[in-house]
Amino acid sequence: MSRIVAIVGRPNVGKSTLFNRLIKRREAIVDAVSGVTRDRHYGRSDWNGREFSLIDTGGYVVGSDDIFEQEIDKQVELAIDEADILVFVVDVETGVTGMDEDVANLLRRSDKPVFLVVNKVDTAMREANAVEFYSLGLGEYYTISSINGSGTGELLDAVVEAL
Ligand code: GDP
Ligand code: MG
Repeated sequence: MSRIVAIVGRPNVGKSTLFNRLIKRREAIVDAVSGVTRDRHYGRSDWNGREFSLIDTGGYVVGSDDIFEQEIDKQVELAIDEADILVFVVDVETGVTGMDEDVANLLRRSDKPVFLVVNKVDTAMREANAVEFYSLGLGEYYTISSINGSGTGELLDAVVEAL
């Protein structure tokens, strides 16, 4: 049975960029249950010979400045129910935001493994800026660049180890 990894986080942190980098094959979008599921993209991936399903959450932001915190919470809660592992993406360019803190609070209440991922660390210089994300209270983090792929191998090593 394939395990499920969900990518969560507030809009524009790079969830979909990471998803697109990691998937090998996109699955049909399941849209039977509610409006929420239509905004989720499903894919398949494997790493070190271990297969898993990947969910990209939060398609609701497209073309809109109205970001509803409730929508984000709903997506995160759904992901917590549905997934075995949560990958929580944050953005080193903006630093910690209130919405990041809200998501972190939801995730801390779950007993599933959470991988905190600081994205957009495109250069070594940005590595140092990631330390502020310790304030989210989720412990260690992985720094990656979804655009150039750096750090994603180490992240996947750890994720499949926890599957
Ligand atoms: P989502 O809303 O969380 O799914 O974020 P997207 O994947 O749509 O990305 C939002 C923006 O961040 C886009 O303009 C991406 O090109 C940009 N982005 C994503 N990953 C990176 C990265 O690793 N480095 C930089 N510099 N930009 C990134
Ligand atoms: Mg997206």
